[in-house]
Amino acid sequence: MSLNMGVFGHPIGHSKSPVMHNAALKELGISGTYEAYDIHPDDLEEAVDSLRRNHFRGVNVTLPHKVSVMPFLDEVSSDARAIGAVNTIVNENGRLIGYNTDGQGYLNSLIAESGEDIKNKRVLVIGAGGASRAVAVSLKKYGVNFLAITNRTLSKAKDIARICEPIGRVNVLPSTIAQANVTSFDIIINTTSIGMEPDVTRMPFSLETLKRDSIVSDLIYTPFKTRFLQVAENKGAKTINGLGMFINQGAIAFELWTGKQAPRDKMRQVVLETLKK
Ligand code: NAP
Repeated sequence: MSLNMGVFGHPIGHSKSPVMHNAALKELGISGTYEAYDIHPDDLEEAVDSLRRNHFRGVNVTLPHKVSVMPFLDEVSSDARAIGAVNTIVNENGRLIGYNTDGQGYLNSLIAESGEDIKNKRVLVIGAGGASRAVAVSLKKYGVNFLAITNRTLSKAKDIARICEPIGRVNVLPSTIAQANVTSFDIIINTTSIGMEPDVTRMPFSLETLKRDSIVSDLIYTPFKTRFLQVAENKGAKTINGLGMFINQGAIAFELWTGKQAPRDKMRQVVLETLKK
């Protein structure tokens, strides 16, 4: 049987998901397709319902649908419920189940690429949007002891601290306090969109006083190395961009749909090729 999958977003033209998932299907000799669908918010409910009729195995869900899709599903995983957003739908014989693989995808990439035991590190997350929620919940669930969040809109950082309360404490810091205490953090993660193409000269945060042996991570991977990561690297920090998160969130979704281990190296290779074009 052929597996039909795809991604729902609006706009969707930039998505690297089709090339990544089609390469993974081909690599494992699985018959199926993965296509990008531009779904206007007004058409989301109908599009989700059509997954059952058209026997789709599942779809990824990207901006702006990650939260609004939730009421249209039959079930939502505990992780996705805690995060408050869904990025993957699996069709189990007509029952649509929502998952969130963004947070676990980021966690896997941070652990693999940092090569460190991150549980006892002091971590600062900059930003409090959807990606930050996924990252914060996953870091706390993994057991990161000290986690702080700072954001332009502080109330959104407080919301994330509230979501994380059942798992553990998250400290909310106004930007000025976070900025004055850069030296006290071992890992600093940018989850804002500042520095993303086309406005690549901007920085979300000053790294003037960064410790040499810090780890600095950015969820952005276009550009491949943001100005934030360039400055961190010049200060002697280890840097991690958002490509690993993208590959891993896709790989976990692929595994939910196919039950097979995703060919992560192949997925990374084809995405890197499209980024070079
Ligand atoms: P979002 O929900 O719109 O959140 C955006 C965040 O950026 C908020 O914290 C917002 O602050 C902050 N921000 C935006 N413009 C700002 C400005 N001019 N000054 C200060 N803060 C600003 O977006 P998201 O879905 O979380 O995505 C955030 C980033 O993560 C994007 O660059 C996205 O591409 C990336 N991402 C990467 C992956 C991956 O696989 N690598 C996955 C998901 C997301 P306020 O709350 O104050 O508005």
